[in-house]
Amino acid sequence: MTLTDEHVQQQTFEVRNPANGDVVGVYAVHSEADVHAAVARARGAAAWWSALPHAERSERLTQWRAVLTRRMAQLADVVHREMGKPHSDAMLEIVLAIDHLAWATKHARKVLGPHRVSPGMLMANQSATLEYHPLGVVGVIGPWNYPVFTPMGSVIYALAAGNAVVFKPSEFAPGVGTWLADSFAEVCPAHPVLQVVTGFGDTGSALCRSGVDKVAFTGSTGTGKKVMATCAETLTPVVIEAGGKDALLVDEDADVEAAADAAVWGGMSNAGQTCIGVERVYVHEKVYDRFLSSVVDKTRDLRADTDLEAKLGPITMPSQIGIIRAHIDDALARGGRAVVGGADAVGERFVQPTVLVDVPEESTAVTEETFGPTLTVKKVRSMDEAVELTNATRYGLGATVFSEKRGMELARRIRSGMTSVNSVISFAAIPSLPFGGVGDSGFGRIHGADGLREFTYAKAIARQRFKPPMLLTSFSRDAKTDSRVAQLVTMLHGGASTLPKLPKRGRDRS
Ligand code: NAD
Repeated sequence: MTLTDEHVQQQTFEVRNPANGDVVGVYAVHSEADVHAAVARARGAAAWWSALPHAERSERLTQWRAVLTRRMAQLADVVHREMGKPHSDAMLEIVLAIDHLAWATKHARKVLGPHRVSPGMLMANQSATLEYHPLGVVGVIGPWNYPVFTPMGSVIYALAAGNAVVFKPSEFAPGVGTWLADSFAEVCPAHPVLQVVTGFGDTGSALCRSGVDKVAFTGSTGTGKKVMATCAETLTPVVIEAGGKDALLVDEDADVEAAADAAVWGGMSNAGQTCIGVERVYVHEKVYDRFLSSVVDKTRDLRADTDLEAKLGPITMPSQIGIIRAHIDDALARGGRAVVGGADAVGERFVQPTVLVDVPEESTAVTEETFGPTLTVKKVRSMDEAVELTNATRYGLGATVFSEKRGMELARRIRSGMTSVNSVISFAAIPSLPFGGVGDSGFGRIHGADGLREFTYAKAIARQRFKPPMLLTSFSRDAKTDSRVAQLVTMLHGGASTLPKLPKRGRDRS
């Protein structure tokens, strides 16, 4: 992707295939005025879309799903051209997005529609209703690494919740964003419910300032902080889905072969450019040698190149190559060893898979997001040590545990938004589970019921069913009423003369 002086004048930029540098598209650099115009159009569309009966909205989303499904090979081609990933990986992210679209379409009404809730004792004369209303217009800012799956995690849930969306795809994948909006327009031709604005950080920043009702940002932690600062100017709420430094833990009783397979796929697929990819591995000393030897064997079978047999594609963002090289160099300079790949693995466009051992925990290969096909593997004496090292990071996106007996217990002790037990990255493919992180990995949730609610506001409605015996919300309330209320509250809540007994611990059925 390049922006030349000529393109600035013409307000366009070129997108290049990262595998060979070929120009694969030219797109507009949308200005602040363009973004504001798109948001103004979206306002009208949002009014129409949110007022549609649920069944009709659901029907349009179902039609869109059919369009995506029938043309997924075409979309995969666009992904392949713009970011270089193998066709099969592009297909994988598309099918996962389609599954999310199906789930959100099916569940939006149940999750967001009116629910009667308890009015409590003092307001027993009231009927209490909770429902979730669309926010209006949602701005979605996406990254390039999963240019379909990642932004669609926000786009789908925002649309299903009844919002219009203005989507700013990464400057490395504007064609994917445009393709998605064009395909939606086929099922909603008269109303711009999903629009795309293309460009760089300035276009994203303009979207943050455009008066949208929420910004859903996915990208690096550094940019997330800028997005939040910009949104603060207008008190625009944000979801931040940022980077990670996910660990995989291998217990002494784990299926070592399966754990090694998961570590290699989790670390190397998409050439390691996965926010929830495995970057660190902590292995119990009793199975360390067996695990490492299996990881080495499996990694040696992998290759980054352009041919169809190559399982890894190029590094999409040229500036990332320098970061990957710096992390490997730092690990080696601090006494680490490369058992596969290493310093020579880093080329101009491709990085060959690299497995590092004996890397000190303060090395950048352990502390910073590498975003390349690298793994650090460390031997630990106990799973307590593994959990402690896993949690010694400012990130907290995903994690993986391989353990036969203690998987759930270990998963709960890890400070991360998501954890898979005895498989890798599965949580992202389960539409009913929320997706998001803690700490420097961001906040807010996409996917699942939480993801639908993220793009709504909670609306509380109290309807009086009959006149209360004691009216609390009136100046006519007298001292006698106050005294009766105090008696009632004392009777209900003041009875325990000692601390309440804690409930007995039930059996963990998980
Ligand atoms: P990035 O932060 O460079 O860019 C993300 C998007 O933000 C792009 O569309 C970019 O144009 C836009 N942008 C840049 N500056 C902006 C500004 N000042 N205001 C508004 N928008 C601005 O990230 P990237 O390189 O595209 O993506 C890789 C990063 O994304 C990695 O850190 C990865 O871990 C993270 N990521 C996170 C998730 C998740 O769900 N947590 C998913 C995928 C990727």
